[in-house]
Amino acid sequence: MRKKIIAGNWKMNKTVEEAIELANQIKRDLADCTEVDVVLCPPFTALKSVSDTVEGSLINVGSQNMGAEDAGAYTGEISHGMLKELFVRYVILGHSERREYYQETDLEINLKLKKALEKNLRPILCVGEKLEDREGGNTESIVEVQVRAGLKDVAADAYTELVIAYEPVWAIGTGKVATSQQAQDVHAFIRGIVKDMVGAEAADAVRIQYGGSMKPGNAPELLAQPDIDGGLIGGAALDAASFIGIVNAAK
Ligand code: PEP
Repeated sequence: MRKKIIAGNWKMNKTVEEAIELANQIKRDLADCTEVDVVLCPPFTALKSVSDTVEGSLINVGSQNMGAEDAGAYTGEISHGMLKELFVRYVILGHSERREYYQETDLEINLKLKKALEKNLRPILCVGEKLEDREGGNTESIVEVQVRAGLKDVAADAYTELVIAYEPVWAIGTGKVATSQQAQDVHAFIRGIVKDMVGAEAADAVRIQYGGSMKPGNAPELLAQPDIDGGLIGGAALDAASFIGIVNAAK
């Protein structure tokens, strides 16, 4: 049985004060949540305050990116050590916004992912096709390239630590959610790729989240699919009641 995981990606939203308020609202309901892994991913500037806010609860903190290097002259980057110092446990890597606006490549994402695993951080690898890929019938080929390249040279036993997030780009922040069948089909396809790469045991163990306009209303049906093990939530993660509603749907 794979434990469901719901992660909130707050993107470039929330001042420190606002982040503390949101984390406190979420903590009130979910501090002792054992049925689902709950992860909050605030912007870098609010990581410390959110970590302090959820300290002593079962809520985890994640970052939205991480540099691949240990330290040095990499202006604007944040290292694994800096994140771990703030009790960060998860790292979102390869989000479609990073790929599109900052030209992050599969190779860079793979280096970051391997570094995160080496340093006992849990990567959430985002993959997903654009609208033109889907309309052109290329969803599977695009997703397969991203999965194989992002997870290149990752050992089978690491798959219990890492998470894959399938996020169709056309469904992110657009209100256009993939149907539960469309999502399930791609999740099963991704699990098949993992099986081919590292074997059935790892494929069975790896958690695959869905992301793309997930809300309390559509979460139950999506989360009931056999290969959907949670959600990566953008817009709805900025509102405590919506985020808590999605976590409750995952229970
Ligand atoms: C995301 O950006 O990861 C995401 C899923 O956003 P939204 O929920 O707003 O579609």
